[in-house]
Amino acid sequence: MFDKLKKAFGGSSEPEAPKVEEKVEAAAPETQAPEAPKAASSKPRVGYIHLSGCTGDAMSLTENYDILSTVLTDMIDIVYGQTLVDKWIHGTYAEEMPEMDLCLIEGSVCLQDEHSLHEIQEARKKSTYIAAFGSCAMTGCFTTFARGGQQAQPKHESFVPVSSLVKVDLALPGCPVAPEMIAKTVVALCNGDMEYLQPALDKAACDKGCGCDVLTGIIRNGLCSGCGTCALACPTRAMGFSEGRPSCDRDRCIKCGTCYTMCPRAWLPVSRIKEDTGL
Ligand code: SF4
Ligand code: SF4
Repeated sequence: MFDKLKKAFGGSSEPEAPKVEEKVEAAAPETQAPEAPKAASSKPRVGYIHLSGCTGDAMSLTENYDILSTVLTDMIDIVYGQTLVDKWIHGTYAEEMPEMDLCLIEGSVCLQDEHSLHEIQEARKKSTYIAAFGSCAMTGCFTTFARGGQQAQPKHESFVPVSSLVKVDLALPGCPVAPEMIAKTVVALCNGDMEYLQPALDKAACDKGCGCDVLTGIIRNGLCSGCGTCALACPTRAMGFSEGRPSCDRDRCIKCGTCYTMCPRAWLPVSRIKEDTGL
């Protein structure tokens, strides 16, 4: 299914110019001869859509600019992005959404926002692959608590994950997504490292968006190894850890789903669990 993605991001078996990690390590500007840019038509076409959220994922993205500058300059074409280019005229996007190989979507979708609904449907039609970028896009996260009445859009009251409306192909969890995860994922995409990307593909439409899911899905099934990763990953300290087991303070939980997706035991295939446990 992802052959095109693999090929588009340099994953063919043909020898390729230095992989991104190598390029990053060797990025001493004074000594590194500039690499000839690829023809625009050969670069993957990437879009970025920002919907409802706090923009934390975009801020995480900017923490990688020293690494991403190579990628953004030489390896991909950003062809669509309201937060990156100003193409609005009289409140309407001035250009038709182009065809894209990959569209990153940050934020959840407001059901009362016609523009967001239209944009996400258009993105699905125009993109080969859609990535839910961050927990708001993946699970709805804290935006699911919205009840309307807030300024400046008091009628906005229902926010849902992207996968509730259109098919999502891969997802990056986190509130916000860790800068390191963004960098490694971009490197994996550029190098066609499908092994690294597999978890993001597997959890594309993850519906585990609460600390309780760790309790019911992992601990209650006897899968918890007591590693503490879930508590370390929790951005609000809702997930505690004592006597070798996690516990969830529901009043602090913002429903980001990071604890569940970061739990190593959440990734075990059911067949493997049955094999190991003899069930
Ligand atoms: S990350 Fe998973 S295995 Fe580790 S302590 Fe939390 S629930 Fe248990
Ligand atoms: S317990 Fe923490 S990491 Fe888990 S969903 Fe709640 S806020 Fe997110």
